[in-house]
Amino acid sequence: MKAVVVGAGIAGLVAARQLGSAGWDVELIEKSPGPRPDGYMMDFFGPGLEAAERIGLYPRLAAVAYQVEAVDYVDGKGRRTCSLDYNQFARLAGGKILSLLRPDMERAALAALDDVARGRVRISYGAQVSRVWSDHDGVRVTLKGLPDAPLAGDLLVGADGIHSTVRAQLFGPEDEYLRPLGMRAAAFTVPGPLLDERFRNRFVLTDSIDRMAGLYNLRTGEVAALLAYRDSTAAAVCRGSGDARERLQGEFAGLSAAVDRVLEACPEHVYDDVVAQIILPGWQKERTILLGDASGAVSLLAGQGASLAIAGAALLGDFLGPVASADGIRPALAGFEERWKPVVEEAQAAGRRAASSFLPRSKAQRLLRRWVIRASRVPGIDRAVARRIVGSH
Ligand SMILES: Cc1cc2nc3c(=O)[nH]c(=O)nc-3n(C[C@H](O)[C@H](O)[C@H](O)COP(=O)(O)OP(=O)(O)OC[C@H]3O[C@@H](n4cnc5c(N)ncnc54)[C@H](O)[C@@H]3O)c2cc1C
Repeated sequence: MKAVVVGAGIAGLVAARQLGSAGWDVELIEKSPGPRPDGYMMDFFGPGLEAAERIGLYPRLAAVAYQVEAVDYVDGKGRRTCSLDYNQFARLAGGKILSLLRPDMERAALAALDDVARGRVRISYGAQVSRVWSDHDGVRVTLKGLPDAPLAGDLLVGADGIHSTVRAQLFGPEDEYLRPLGMRAAAFTVPGPLLDERFRNRFVLTDSIDRMAGLYNLRTGEVAALLAYRDSTAAAVCRGSGDARERLQGEFAGLSAAVDRVLEACPEHVYDDVVAQIILPGWQKERTILLGDASGAVSLLAGQGASLAIAGAALLGDFLGPVASADGIRPALAGFEERWKPVVEEAQAAGRRAASSFLPRSKAQRLLRRWVIRASRVPGIDRAVARRIVGSH
């Protein structure tokens, strides 16, 4: 059995690994020339962490994780306004939260391919999928610049992210499924040091209205930055465009001295995209399944995108692993979708609820967030706040 997986992000890499370990031959197609360097720190807990333990990926992720002690909210002068104790949340989540830089996670998933799927997965970097076909006889995929040499297979996995080409071609244009949440987010790293010793092992977030900068000191000596800001025209999607730096400098001018320094060092090309969810009535078409952000992006507000990408890919592997003939593919895909879609929809609802506390619109909303954070130290309330943040796992 042969699968073509489009996208070597976290979902595509883990799906390819699981299919390869079950004996499938896998062509993994990625348009970037290599693993992507973009991305911010991600909390990793819940179903993805459990799945990572089950499929043997956990040790590789734990090896590159950061020990975060707290989230500090700071005012324009760098003074703490309130803090969230991370260890407390880790304890309430059964001690199981990792903090990982997105590119570190992707590299760990890439390195883990050979643990179990040696020789079964062929990765082509710098290969962009331009056309896909899927019918009851199989799937075909053409690559940009190679229209006359389509790849063929029994199964197509569209793990090509929130702006999926596979989805656009087989399910319809992006604007039918992309639900913007009224903001954008940019992520990049700059040379450090920018943050003083007080903030070692701590996330620093500006306690601001309608925009927020998050900074974290990496072990490399660099600083990872996440900039989120309101944008009601967010449907106009922009990915890593050259004018991102200028736009960010305009949006974040004067927020704080540390943010000004980050903006001075901001690279010209950065990840800068709409914060949005993907909501689709169905993820399967003939022999094709959408996976990860392509089928059900939850947005960074849900804080679970990578966790769900890994858990979904592992579950897809469970359903497809035992399939020994083409007739078994569609029922396996239907079983996967039936089991997994409600979990993704629940995380999407949580992401939408988190929008107001993530970027307060007014001083009153900001005060409410401070109150909730301070109350999180009170026994009893801590559980309610933790549940809101880490879900019910
Ligand atoms: C700033 C930021 C902070 C985040 N914080 C968190 C967090 O705290 N916790 C968390 O769990 N998640 C977080 N996320 C979300 C998380 O990164 C994603 O949800 C998750 O990685 C899903 O990955 P994916 O593999 O589905 O998609 P992607 O990572 O987008 O991968 C898709 C891949 O497909 C490739 N591709 C696209 N089109 C084509 C094509 N035509 N041909 C070939 N290849 C193609 C792309 O280059 C890419 O490598 C955050 C995201 C951002 C941006």
